[in-house]
Amino acid sequence: MAEATSNTQPRSPIESGTPDPFPHMHATLRRNFGLWRHHDRPQPGVLHHVSETGEEVWTVRAGTQRQMDLATVRKLCDIADEYADGYLRFTIRSNAEITVDREEKVQPLIDALRGAGFPVGGTGPSVTMISHTQGWLHCDIPATDASGVVKALMDELHQEFVREDMPNRVHITTSCCQINCGGQGDIAINIQHTKPPKIQHDLVGQVCERPSVVARCPVAAIRPAVVDGKPSLEVDESKCVACGACYPPCPPMQINDPEHSRLAIWVGGNHSNARGVPTFHKLVVAGLPNNPPRWPEVAEHVKKILYTYRDNARDYERVGEWIERIGWKRFFELTGLPFTKHHIENWQGSRHKLNASAHLRF
Ligand code: SF4
Ligand code: SF4
Repeated sequence: MAEATSNTQPRSPIESGTPDPFPHMHATLRRNFGLWRHHDRPQPGVLHHVSETGEEVWTVRAGTQRQMDLATVRKLCDIADEYADGYLRFTIRSNAEITVDREEKVQPLIDALRGAGFPVGGTGPSVTMISHTQGWLHCDIPATDASGVVKALMDELHQEFVREDMPNRVHITTSCCQINCGGQGDIAINIQHTKPPKIQHDLVGQVCERPSVVARCPVAAIRPAVVDGKPSLEVDESKCVACGACYPPCPPMQINDPEHSRLAIWVGGNHSNARGVPTFHKLVVAGLPNNPPRWPEVAEHVKKILYTYRDNARDYERVGEWIERIGWKRFFELTGLPFTKHHIENWQGSRHKLNASAHLRF
């Protein structure tokens, strides 16, 4: 049992913060921190860094299935111990990176990774590992399994991870609701609810804290109501933007629907400000069926956009830069995607569609 804390000695806060990365770094990386002179890519999936001190490192990047079981992590650790110097790190896109300090270790390491089923690639102008949002693992409002969409797509596109023949790198993201916490992507696959929630009135009074649900709506579409003599809620469907935010605090606000929760594709987003300002991705396809376990309609559209970009963009152009140069009209012509009135936002009715709630959240 913990000792009682004396009133005169307040407990010190534990400031954990971001762990110190240096103890976990390859010794050559540690020694040469801030001294790297240049780097190159001797082959797809391999980065070679040269320091001002003359020391060199080679980093081999391998794709993973993102959500890894213990056996997979152990397998990667064993490969890092046996074929490298025992250092393994994961990138923000869940690539595994293993660093070695001698060139002759590179090929046996690649062979070991490939032999264990990990594709080596993802550097340079390739399709990097597709990122996805938390989905059913951690979030309370996903409308689909974002990780499943990623797995299905990477199965289709994994040769584009291994090869480097895109004009520039391509970041593909998936998000399982329109909150889109997956961020911006060159190509983004996001789910959309297309209908307001259906309310199970007999359950609302038992499981929902109604003021919280009212407060959750970004467009103030929810009001308390009495239905069949019981406390419930009602939705002004002319205001509802079908965001799904009312579902987590009140599961009787059922919005997930096998027919009306659909997938949309957006293009041209970019977080980077390396050569220009960051950009938001824009909607180009809507209403694709949420069709597990392989989502073939999504894969077909993503491939159409990706290969049109590959065949038409200039070297170094990202997807958004390519569209910026050729214009949206040409983009729709080249990809053969239908352009509809729903692609045009003229802000009509935005007073009702955008955030009309008086609630402030901190
Ligand atoms: S995209 Fe939406 S549903 Fe998916 S994890 Fe993020 S907030 Fe949750
Ligand atoms: S929270 Fe979203 S889905 Fe629910 S009523 Fe409001 S706008 Fe519609």
